[in-house]
Amino acid sequence: MDATQLVALGYFSTIAFAATVEATLPLRRPAPGALRHRWRANIALALIDTAVIRLLVPIGIMEVAAFAADSRFALLPALGLVPWWLAAVLTFLALDFGKYLQHLALHRLGWAWRFHAVHHSDRDYDFTTGLRFHPVEALLTVSLDLAVIAALGGPLEVVLGYEIARITLSLLAHANFAMPDSVDRVLRLVLVTPNAHRLHHAVEFQARDCNFGTVFTWWDRIGGSWESLPVRSLPDLAIGLPNHPNGAPEGLMAVLLAPFRRAAVERRPEAA
Ligand SMILES: [Zn+2]
Repeated sequence: MDATQLVALGYFSTIAFAATVEATLPLRRPAPGALRHRWRANIALALIDTAVIRLLVPIGIMEVAAFAADSRFALLPALGLVPWWLAAVLTFLALDFGKYLQHLALHRLGWAWRFHAVHHSDRDYDFTTGLRFHPVEALLTVSLDLAVIAALGGPLEVVLGYEIARITLSLLAHANFAMPDSVDRVLRLVLVTPNAHRLHHAVEFQARDCNFGTVFTWWDRIGGSWESLPVRSLPDLAIGLPNHPNGAPEGLMAVLLAPFRRAAVERRPEAA
């Protein structure tokens, strides 16, 4: 099995697992009509993103990682003396820290937020929310991921391991799953859990401006953006964006065009 097949296996088995756990122990029962609308747009976005990346990004992460690992211009090969285990740890941490900074920038830069707002505009929360990204955001984040991998030049197997961990945790974090506090409390010491990430999708800005991490919760803890709520508070948490909290979910075209409309920009409260 090659790297692409391993990533695909991780992707589809996590989707199957997330769909099963949220059907078995849902945090909140979705309205059936809204579910159909949301799933149609979210799954269509995932297919469009895949096609756009295939068309416009001619190189994969493993090809970039292989090139960078042999390059004397990449950071870790340039250091030379770093032992493998240290290079592996540094690579995994640096890739996750890069994703944290990337996510923070998507919220802080007005033009980037226009596109990331599509992910947050989902009016409910389940594993398909983890598939809902505007193609411009998908292109931007893939390009930045490739740039970080090229700059680091870390071990190939660690780059692959991080990619699988990132996809798995990101899909699971969006699951509509009632994880008991006793389990969540232990897991969130290290990993981003569904309970933690759900808060990041709150309608209310102050509640949402937290928990930007993808795999590890440490960057949010260090950066002062970590928040947690007990699981009993989560079903009542309003999900989505304040400029369209009610009504039927938008169709695919409306979602694709949303970043180009003035109303899509939600100003930060202090800037309002
Ligand atoms: Zn976000």
